[in-house]
Amino acid sequence: MYRMSAKPMITAEQIQTRVKEMAAEIKESFDFDIILSALTGAYMFTTDLSRAMASAKHRIAFIKASSYGSGMESCGKLKVTGLEKLDLKGKRVLVVDDILDTGNTMITLVAMLKEMGVSDLRSCVLMNKEERRVVDYHADFVGFEIANEFVVGYGLDFNEDYRTLPEVWTLEEV
Ligand code: 5GP
Ligand code: MG
Repeated sequence: MYRMSAKPMITAEQIQTRVKEMAAEIKESFDFDIILSALTGAYMFTTDLSRAMASAKHRIAFIKASSYGSGMESCGKLKVTGLEKLDLKGKRVLVVDDILDTGNTMITLVAMLKEMGVSDLRSCVLMNKEERRVVDYHADFVGFEIANEFVVGYGLDFNEDYRTLPEVWTLEEV
């Protein structure tokens, strides 16, 4: 059995403040054409971030990247769908994901995008679990550095629950 932590790990207010800071930093340093967001976990972060960068005209596209089966363990093999429909050749792409964990998702996705001929690429994640990294990958923009805990809320799920919460919580085994 699992239950949510008694208090949020990151409050809705902290998230909103940080998203605005990140939006300002990204707008300042990267002139991008399109946000490419990884569903489903990044949906909430992506909409908030995109809205905060509305003055920097951009397009938006979603792909689905899944490495987790059900539960908390990644099954390792990354499945990406939706990329084949996009024409990203020569485009400056901001890749957005919810969390950087082992790094397998990002490193694989970035390799695929380079293969497709994107002209410039930066990555942005709401959270980073540095301790869990198994590949050499660093995101260009990171919202929060977090410890090695399983988190839910603000788009992130556990077996499809908790996604719609506006805060980030940890799940604890009871
Ligand atoms: P990576 O490929 O870096 O190991 O994993 C990235 C993906 O795993 C994220 O996009 C996210 O979907 C999922 N993930 C990693 N850590 C967590 C976590 O703590 N909570 C949830 N809900 N998903 C996670
Ligand atoms: Mg994901």
